[in-house]
Amino acid sequence: MSRALVDIRILQREYLLAISRAMTAELDLHDLLRLILKSAVELVAGQAGMIALADEGGETMRVAAVYGIPPHLVDHFAPLVRGIPYREGHEGEAFPELANQLKLIAREADLALSQVIRLPLSSGGTVIGLIYVFQTGNYYFVEDAPNLLRSFAEQAAIAVRNARLYQQVNQEKQRSDAILEQSADGVMILDRHLHITVFNKALSQMTGWPATEAIGRAHDDVIQWASLKTEADLRTALENQWPLPNAAYLYVEGEALRHQDSSCASDRRAITLGITYAPLMDADGRMTDIIANVRDLTRYREEEALQKTFISVISHELKTPVAIIKGYAGTLRRPEGHWSPQILAESLTVIEEEADNLNALIDNLLEVSRLQAGTFTLEISDEINLPRLAENVARRFATQTTLHRIETDFPDDYPTIIGDERRLIQVLNNLVSNGIKYSPDGGLITIRGEVHPQHVTVAVCDEGIGIPARDQYRIFQKFSRLDNALSRKTEGTGLGLYLSRAIIEAHRGRIWFHSNSDDEPGAPGTTFTFSLPRD
Ligand code: ADP
Repeated sequence: MSRALVDIRILQREYLLAISRAMTAELDLHDLLRLILKSAVELVAGQAGMIALADEGGETMRVAAVYGIPPHLVDHFAPLVRGIPYREGHEGEAFPELANQLKLIAREADLALSQVIRLPLSSGGTVIGLIYVFQTGNYYFVEDAPNLLRSFAEQAAIAVRNARLYQQVNQEKQRSDAILEQSADGVMILDRHLHITVFNKALSQMTGWPATEAIGRAHDDVIQWASLKTEADLRTALENQWPLPNAAYLYVEGEALRHQDSSCASDRRAITLGITYAPLMDADGRMTDIIANVRDLTRYREEEALQKTFISVISHELKTPVAIIKGYAGTLRRPEGHWSPQILAESLTVIEEEADNLNALIDNLLEVSRLQAGTFTLEISDEINLPRLAENVARRFATQTTLHRIETDFPDDYPTIIGDERRLIQVLNNLVSNGIKYSPDGGLITIRGEVHPQHVTVAVCDEGIGIPARDQYRIFQKFSRLDNALSRKTEGTGLGLYLSRAIIEAHRGRIWFHSNSDDEPGAPGTTFTFSLPRD
């Protein structure tokens, strides 16, 4: 070998080494393919090049990258890949065929290419792709180009395989990140030092911590327990040797403080959280991470508390009328009592009214249980005259109060509607009785009707204590009674509005309320309105 040839070989080897280093470092498949092509073309002094890669099943090859070929001409080269498949051991036979096809393509594409070298990119015995280097008719490839390219192709194949694996792992990671992010439950991942590394959207909503702020912080900064229902929190459990082999999961429940921007700490709302911590261990049994699933139990706990209140309220509500009835009946039947007809009549009226109250309460309870059992159905009749129903309700309530005036105000053209008469009376009863109950100083209660093209409305307006804005969201909830001095004094189960809403919604209507001061500054009281469709 001549001295010059030796020098060239050394240079080529050094070049190969440099490229192979660069290739190993490149994990982006797109950039890697470009690097491989550019290097391959330069290595053998070609003009252009192309890489085709096998698809996932390894069945078909597709052009994955080109070099020195204008993008709009790339499609012309596809037949070169599909038309002359690679067959191991028959590589030499393919060359004249490949050169002919290339010339056809080059003519169509108006390119001067006429020579081609094609080599497989093989990894672990399988051909994962093909690399093509093209040359114009006026130039020659370097001496021994196919062999030179072969050792290069081996390196390139390894790099391609790695980049593809990396891409796959990355895609998998993105998928699992997206699953975590979209999970309806709160999810966070802690490292072994209990710093947060993952914090999903649901958890942000629950705790009020933006993920960007929570990530990197210590667990205890973000989950601040105000009180615990379970025995230990995460830190105490870890101090007590958690995770134990037979008790891998740790469940912690309690009241936690929501994160708020406000600096006023006393303003922070508490939420009930239930967190299950699951440790991730490495092969040596050391904990590497902790995955925490977080549930917001606030509503569930609130409902539990409400159920408890309900039981005590309901037993009181049932007992009061029964005690009154029993008291009056007992007095009346005393053998020594000689009751005047007036006392007799008054006492019997009280007994009748209390029996009515009891009946209304039992009706409400039955409706609630029907709603819960899903057997609530309307008994529809047509031609319901809401103005007449309103007048009846007004008249009946007028006999029960001396402090309030009850008026109705309906336009003459108020149409009849289709619906469940008994249930609509129940709604009017509930709204008017609330109007009376929650205006202890008396005042005017108006039942007003309005006609709209598609629907009619009925509004019950009082001049009472009103409803504070902060309580508006829960007023229609089951068993909910606002905690004010009056609700502690007045009788009620917190079911009236819940049932009214269910009844109106079953009629495809809506029910809502607003403070009278919204219409007229300083005006006291509340207006409850429901709408019903006209057809
Ligand atoms: P109840 O009257 O039996 O307590 P409701 O479901 O009818 O139950 O009402 C729920 C709560 O809403 C009441 O306890 C009361 O605090 C509040 N509320 C209802 N209507 C009015 C009103 N017209 N004015 C002020 N507060 C009201």
